[in-house]
Amino acid sequence: MKDILSQATFFDFASLQNTSQILQKRFPFLHVSSIGNTVLGRPIITYTLGEGDPATLYVGGVHALDYITSALLVHFTAQLCACMQNRMPLHTLQPAEFFKRHSAIILPMLNPDGVEIHLHGAKTAGILAQTVEKLSGGDTRHWQANARGIDLNHNFDAGYTLLKKEEVAQGITQPGPGKFGGYRPESETETSALCNLCRQIPFEKVMAFHSQGEELYWHYGPNTPPDAEKMAHSLAKSATYTACSPSGMAAHGGFKDWFIQTTGRPGFTIEVGKGKNPLPFASWKGIYKRIEPLMALGIHITP
Ligand SMILES: [Zn+2]
Repeated sequence: MKDILSQATFFDFASLQNTSQILQKRFPFLHVSSIGNTVLGRPIITYTLGEGDPATLYVGGVHALDYITSALLVHFTAQLCACMQNRMPLHTLQPAEFFKRHSAIILPMLNPDGVEIHLHGAKTAGILAQTVEKLSGGDTRHWQANARGIDLNHNFDAGYTLLKKEEVAQGITQPGPGKFGGYRPESETETSALCNLCRQIPFEKVMAFHSQGEELYWHYGPNTPPDAEKMAHSLAKSATYTACSPSGMAAHGGFKDWFIQTTGRPGFTIEVGKGKNPLPFASWKGIYKRIEPLMALGIHITP
């Protein structure tokens, strides 16, 4: 997997499909599936390891400019599978033993339409190409949203009314390249597919990967579990990242916010790397090296 990613200068939807096929061939015990399709018909691909509960969920590629997180999660899956096959540890995790009784679902690219728009332009948006062209003003290099111009990480049902107020205060009142959370929570197929997955499987914890900042967020409102802070500090420490305490300016509408509010179980947002988004793709290797211990610990850390 390293060879494939090392030669690449970006990681798009075709890269995800190719690497998924390679992973499936190389590791028959890895279950490659999808939780549904985007509005443009691209599958939202998932990798499942192990069976039964408790299960952990990893999500990446929520924002188009964070697409480096998709490559990181695919590479992590490959490392996890290789260690499982060879009965080797991955840092603190013993995959061969662990996945006998636990499971993990890794969803590397929640927003494939957005990633394609950012990397290859409005023409990749099919029936929505003209809409994207108009909303982006002809420049899709800063496109964060899905193909309908909805920011997926503002489309979850957590503090949605407050989020809408903040959007209006910032002059964001309609679909666009980013930051518009839609007209109602879960209006987008990507967000509803992810929420439905969480309604079907009682995940013990979830981790959403974004870029950038080398930070980890663990708090959302009164339903934040008491052990989340301790877990956040252990996870952050393993990657020498910073666990961020809640500040006055709480964000709303994000996936981890929704998960914590709805389930009362731990949800984390990890902001990988440092720099200006999109992070240069060539930096993936260095970022991965630093967060691999965090990714391995995240699978088996318990509240
Ligand atoms: Zn993001």
